[in-house]
Amino acid sequence: MFTMQETSPMAILIIDDMTSNITVLRDAVDGLAEVFFATSGASGLALARHCRPDVVLLDIAMPGMDGYAVCEALKADPLTADCAVIFVTGYTCADRELLSLQQGGVDYLQKPLDLAVVRARVFNHLRIRMQTRALAQARQDLADVVAHLPAFLSYWDDQHLNRFCNDVAGRWFGVTAASMEGMALPEVVGSANALLIRRRLYVGPPDAAPAFEMSLHNADGGTVHTQASVVRRERGKRDSSFLLLITDVSARKQAELALYDEKERMRIMLNSIGDAVIATDRYGCVTFLNPIAEEMTGWSSEEAVGQLIEHVMPLIDGDSGAVTRNPVRLALSEDRIVGMALDCVLVRRDGRRLMVEDSAAPVRDRNGVQSGAIIVFHDVSEARAMAYKMTHLAQHDALTNLPNRTLLRDRTTQALEQASRQDQHVAMLLIDLDNFKVINSTAGHAVGDTLLQQVSLRLQQALRAGDTICRQGGDEFIILLSALDDVEYAGVVARKLLAVLVEAFMVGNQRFDLSASIGVSLFPGDSNDQDGLYRHADSAMYRAKQEGKNRFCFFSAELEEKLLARHALIGELRKAIEDGGLEMHYQPKVDARVGRVVGLEALIRWRHHGVLVPPASFIALAEECGLIVPLGQFVLHQVCTDLARLVDAQVAVPISINLAGQQFDDLALAADIARTLASHDLPSHLLEVEITEGTLIEDVIHSLENLRTLSELGIRTSIDDFGTGYSSLSYLKKFPIDVLKIDQSFVHDMLTDSSDAAIISAIISLASSLRMDLVAEGVEQQAQADRLLAMGCTIMQGYLYSRPVPFEEMLTLLRHETIFGLPPVPA
Ligand code: C2E
Ligand code: CA
Ligand code: CA
Repeated sequence: MFTMQETSPMAILIIDDMTSNITVLRDAVDGLAEVFFATSGASGLALARHCRPDVVLLDIAMPGMDGYAVCEALKADPLTADCAVIFVTGYTCADRELLSLQQGGVDYLQKPLDLAVVRARVFNHLRIRMQTRALAQARQDLADVVAHLPAFLSYWDDQHLNRFCNDVAGRWFGVTAASMEGMALPEVVGSANALLIRRRLYVGPPDAAPAFEMSLHNADGGTVHTQASVVRRERGKRDSSFLLLITDVSARKQAELALYDEKERMRIMLNSIGDAVIATDRYGCVTFLNPIAEEMTGWSSEEAVGQLIEHVMPLIDGDSGAVTRNPVRLALSEDRIVGMALDCVLVRRDGRRLMVEDSAAPVRDRNGVQSGAIIVFHDVSEARAMAYKMTHLAQHDALTNLPNRTLLRDRTTQALEQASRQDQHVAMLLIDLDNFKVINSTAGHAVGDTLLQQVSLRLQQALRAGDTICRQGGDEFIILLSALDDVEYAGVVARKLLAVLVEAFMVGNQRFDLSASIGVSLFPGDSNDQDGLYRHADSAMYRAKQEGKNRFCFFSAELEEKLLARHALIGELRKAIEDGGLEMHYQPKVDARVGRVVGLEALIRWRHHGVLVPPASFIALAEECGLIVPLGQFVLHQVCTDLARLVDAQVAVPISINLAGQQFDDLALAADIARTLASHDLPSHLLEVEITEGTLIEDVIHSLENLRTLSELGIRTSIDDFGTGYSSLSYLKKFPIDVLKIDQSFVHDMLTDSSDAAIISAIISLASSLRMDLVAEGVEQQAQADRLLAMGCTIMQGYLYSRPVPFEEMLTLLRHETIFGLPPVPA
């Protein structure tokens, strides 16, 4: 603004009634400023208001209004008051000069005029004017600055009364500058603040008193945070007038408080989160540890700060144990977030190891320059252990801790890949323990489990380290022999396994003799994939069973064919059971003394492709594939239906049905039979069951239970094929058995083979001593019947009387009250 002032033009006004004088004067000041002129006092005054002259050259003697009057008028008008008036006159009287100066003129020029002097004088006055103008402007500017300063600026006198303040509007204390003048300090700032200020004034260092904080209350009752400073007017003297400067620092204060809050929040957060946090500077020296980090590393904050991160948080690789680079280093050197390292182990200060997962990130200051790093980590020991346990559980059999199918699958895939790359063989051995079911049901499942554990141990010990053994569930194991150069080796291993299994097992004091059947299939000879290998091993194992157990068989193609045929047959049998392809035939049991039918045996037939297939061809199959249960259901229902018809025809005799072992496993068997009888409205004594000795001892517990229930229901039980099994007097006494059926093999040869006859006679006396009834099976000749009768067996069954016949035929027979044997019926 000063420059503007400098450039703003200066003006000279010449007032004279003589134009010739005006011309002279104008020439004298030419070029010093803009020149205006007037020829009378009145017009000069009007012009002055307009051009605001800096210097007025004023003629004293003018008609009308003289120079003094004009000067007086100029000084009286605020617009023109500050112009410099130089009187010009022809009078040479000293009074005049004095008068002129007294009238407010600044100078006096005497005619005749020396033009050079005139010019010099005017120039000087113009310069003074210019400086005065600049000074005034500067003062105004300063006043403006002070008034608009965002601070409270004040001066207090010796008595601490206000002498000046810049708060024209009274924004600070609600008191305008004008009314503050003369007010006492406490009145304005409050007594507490006044005390504060005075203390600074007298107690603080006399010269540079430091600024101090002061709180003021604004008009709304809110607090304004300020910074104040006092400066003594007269330093070192006793005078205690002073300047007081107050600035509003609320915004800064607020930012400080916010920063503090933020820091505090961060501190609480870092101390309370579950993760460990360590901060470092950009050299990797620790600057901060939160409590979890202290706990995990074993370092206290005080000790750790300043140490290298590697020292406080040494990391090693979980697998190799090798020292690993701390992620902080990577974060710092690559200036990026470094994700968690896998399998990372933290070595605590006390040497203990913790599995950790971590991630580090560089920290930048507000200019974006890297200033350090932060690493966050947590203990994953438990999680890893759990994960490991879970994978182990998912891949292992709980009982034996051997790999399970899932793991075997992986291993097989690997083995096959490797073998095909290296032109080698892989063998799969499927091991099934022989008759294990019997042990399980006689000795109990706990013993069975212990035995399985021992078996798996023995198998493992017999194998190479690289071979995989897996338990399939039940008593079935699979062994994978990988990387074989010679397929014969599979046979060697199989033989060895059989050998280790036949050695006696001990559970407590109990001795168990086991054996196994093993099926072997080979890659790539038998199959290229694992499902094929398994299927083939399975069929080879099946053949080993068929061929008498306790042996191993390699897979062969013709065996596979047989198995396929068997598979097809099972399908057809299932269909026959569902679609009524089965039918019941009946063979009479005859009281040979009178030739009367005293009972019937129900024997099943399968009408397959128009041919009547005997049970020998499909009962065993049905037992193996579980179809025996639905088949048994069919028999029970059909027999009850037929029985009901016999009842209707009033020719009812008891009918016996044959039960297979598996049907006997089911404890609900007796209840099932009772229900079916009831639904056909039949008395229970009309139904009898036949079971073999083998069935009885296979599952003693179930057998006993079922037999008891059946006998309670009033259903009679026969032991079929008696004499061929494990005849033991003890179990005969234990079970509620009603009838012994002498096996037809003894009857067949009884006339020629004396030992068979002896067995029959033994069975007959056994039955009589146990009060059991007898039936002789397979009686084909009258001589046999006669001999049996003579020995004491009265009930016979056999072709001599009748072959098994369809129900309708049997019904006719019964209706006609056919008498058998007297005379003999032609075959
Ligand atoms: P099993 O219970 O010993 O039945 C007697 C078998 O001897 C019957 O053979 C019968 O036809 C035959 N047979 C009867 N008299 C003579 C004879 O004088 N000489 C000769 N050589 N044989 C005679 P089938 O019907 O072929 O039955 C064979 C076996 O099938 C039965 O032996 C029985 O164990 C089983 N079976 C038959 N039907 C069923 C059934 O419905 N369920 C079950 N689970 N098994 C059945
Ligand atoms: Ca029978
Ligand atoms: Ca029999």
